[in-house]
Amino acid sequence: AKRRAPGTLRVFDAEMREEERLRMQVAADLPRAAERAEMRLVYQPIVRTRSGGTESLEALVRWDHPELGSIPPDRFIPLAEASGQIIPLGAWILDRALEAYAGWRRDPRFPRDAALSVNLSRRQLADPGFCRTASTLLAKHGVPASRLHLEVTEREVMDEPEAALRTLAKLRAGGIRIDLDDFGTGQSSLAALHRFPLDVLKIDRAFVSGLGVDATRTAVFRGVLDLARTLRLEVVAEGIETPLQLEIATSLRCDFVQGFGLSRPLRPEDVPAFCHAAAGG
Ligand code: C2E
Ligand code: CA
Ligand code: CA
Ligand code: CA
Repeated sequence: AKRRAPGTLRVFDAEMREEERLRMQVAADLPRAAERAEMRLVYQPIVRTRSGGTESLEALVRWDHPELGSIPPDRFIPLAEASGQIIPLGAWILDRALEAYAGWRRDPRFPRDAALSVNLSRRQLADPGFCRTASTLLAKHGVPASRLHLEVTEREVMDEPEAALRTLAKLRAGGIRIDLDDFGTGQSSLAALHRFPLDVLKIDRAFVSGLGVDATRTAVFRGVLDLARTLRLEVVAEGIETPLQLEIATSLRCDFVQGFGLSRPLRPEDVPAFCHAAAGG
């Protein structure tokens, strides 16, 4: 091994302490962030390849911290999970997303058949009270269950498969659609996935980024797509950035596409205009 320059270890140590201090500040500020209006949701469209119409709007949470600036969800969601804070935060996210969705439905530019997609964390999935929370919030905003899609990842489901299976079956029996997020990145076998009540697979960006790069990476994407077809599920290709990726995903008959190449996540007030334009209006 290479010898470290003198002092490197100390610098590294200081960085670690700074990182740990930041982590603790983020964790400490998290419980009050939503009520202080530091959190907001943005919405990224999921588009139908066949018509170009909007299939759904996926809610993505943002935290604008007054001192630390914008903190990405990949960074604070795991902390909220570890502390259990994800239960109230997740309910807040669902409440706000349904409120926004109910507002869009009153806008004539918003298509009647566009849905709302919300990400679920593993803790919410394991929470026996979640089904009740979901049905209470749907009723509060007057949104039919069939208009709500919940996104869960393979990893989250496989974490506690029996509890997840129970919750998902109950949600789906209530009319909510279940989408499997980040498909292809987990370890689960086809046999395991087959047991889960799912409607749609979202093929992870890692596979989509290889589209059109070379024959091998395009073939890998096709393989994942074929797997989804074997399970008789509809497919979203996520992370579409270029016209070429969109063209290939469409020609391979992916049902839906999502990514910066179609739209960045939008502020809620910009959603009806986007949908109207997408529908050719
Ligand atoms: P995800 O659910 O897989 O969401 C997709 C992420 O990819 C989003 O990042 C989105 O902005 C980004 N993205 C979309 N299209 C493209 C593209 O074309 N290129 C690239 N490079 N990126 C693209 P974001 O918003 O930072 O979210 C990251 C992750 O944090 C999400 O991954 C999800 O796992 C989690 N997350 C976000 N919002 C929520 C939430 O409300 N609840 C929960 N439980 N998790 C959330
Ligand atoms: Ca997602
Ligand atoms: Ca994803
Ligand atoms: Ca993800």
